[in-house]
Amino acid sequence: MKQDLFGLTIEELQEALVAKGMKKFRAKQVFQWLYQKAVFDFSAMHNLGKADIALLKENFTLLPREITILREQNSTDGMTSKLLLRLPDGNSVETVLMHHDYGYSVCVSSQVGCDMHCAFCASGLNGAVRNLTAAEIVAQVYLFNERLRGEAMVSRVVVMGSGEPMLNYDAVIGALDFLHREDTCHMSYRNMTISTCGIIPGIKRLEAEGKPINLAISLHAVKNELRTALMPVNKGFPFVDVIAAAESYSQAGGRQVTYEYILLKGKNDSVQDAELLSNYLRFKHASVNLIPANPVPEQGFERPSKQAIERFVKVLQKNKVNATVRKEMGKDIDAACGQLRAKFAKEQEHK
Ligand code: SAH
Repeated sequence: MKQDLFGLTIEELQEALVAKGMKKFRAKQVFQWLYQKAVFDFSAMHNLGKADIALLKENFTLLPREITILREQNSTDGMTSKLLLRLPDGNSVETVLMHHDYGYSVCVSSQVGCDMHCAFCASGLNGAVRNLTAAEIVAQVYLFNERLRGEAMVSRVVVMGSGEPMLNYDAVIGALDFLHREDTCHMSYRNMTISTCGIIPGIKRLEAEGKPINLAISLHAVKNELRTALMPVNKGFPFVDVIAAAESYSQAGGRQVTYEYILLKGKNDSVQDAELLSNYLRFKHASVNLIPANPVPEQGFERPSKQAIERFVKVLQKNKVNATVRKEMGKDIDAACGQLRAKFAKEQEHK
C-alpha cells in the first residue's frame, strides 16, 4: 500500500522520500508545496523534475486527494460553505468555511460522530465511530486553503464541528501545533478555539499546555437537572465545576472564556434562566455566545421568538455580562453540527 505523506513532519517526510531513493533536500520542496501553497497534485510540483514526480506518484498518496466531497452547500449570501467529506475509510465528517470581514475561519470536526449525546445535537445521533487523526483535522483546513489559493489562507480555526475535542486531545493539539508552525500556516494560537462540552481533565491538560488557545464551553443550561437532561456529560462533570476549571484556565493564560448557550424555546430562555446565568458568570473573564437553536426535527427543539432572545440579552447586559447573539451564518445550509451528515445518511437509507 502507498504511504500517505500528508501531515508528516519535515523529518518524517525526508525519511520517507530518501527510502524511495530521492534526495534529502526534496523533502523541503515538497513540504513547501503542501503547506505553503496547498498544492496536492505531485505533477504540479514543477521544481521537482520528472523522475522524482514519477517516484512520488508511484509510492505515495496525499490525504486531501484521498478525501472526496460528498456534498457541498453554500449559503445564499455566499459567506459560508459546508462540505461533507468522505474519508478514505468510508466515514464522513463535516467541515465549514466562514468568510468574515477579518478573514476566513474553518470549523473543523474532531471525531466521526460523537459520544456525548447532547439532546439538541445531530452529531451524536449514532454515537462516536472513531477519532480523527491529526492529519485528518489539518486536511479539513487545507482543503479550503487549496480552494482559496492565491487569494487567501484560512487564518482561524475553531474545533467546533462534530465530536468532543477533549476526548481526542492528542490529535487535536497535534493538528493545532502543526498549523501553528512557521513553515505551514503560521497560525497564531490566539486564532484557534477549542470548544468542549466540559471534559474537565481536558481543560486541565490544556491549561498545563500553556498555549494561548481560546477555550469555549458549551454550557446551554444553568439548572442542574435541565443541563443533565440536555447534556448527559453534566453527570460526570457538573457545570459548576466546569465553570471553575474554565475560570482557572482563563486566569492562568489571560484568555477570555466563551460560553456557548443555545436558546431553546421554553426550556432555557426565561428571564430567570438569564438571571441565573448572570450570577454564575458575573465578574468572570467571560463572554456568552447565544445561539438561537438550529432546530433538529428528530428531537423536537424550537428556536425562541426574537422578543424572547432580546429579553434574554437585556438581562445579561443589565448584569454586566458580555453577550452576543451568534450571527446566523449558514442557517440555510444545515450548519449545526452533524445536521448535513445526518441528513445525508437518512437519504442513503431511503435509496
Ligand atoms: N463537543 C464540543 C464541540 C462540538 S459542538 C462542544 O460540545 O462544545 C459545537 C457547538 O454547536 C456546541 O456549542 C454545540 O452545543 C452546538 N450545537 C449542537 N447542536 C446544535 C443545534 N441544533 N443548534 C445550535 N447549536 C448546536
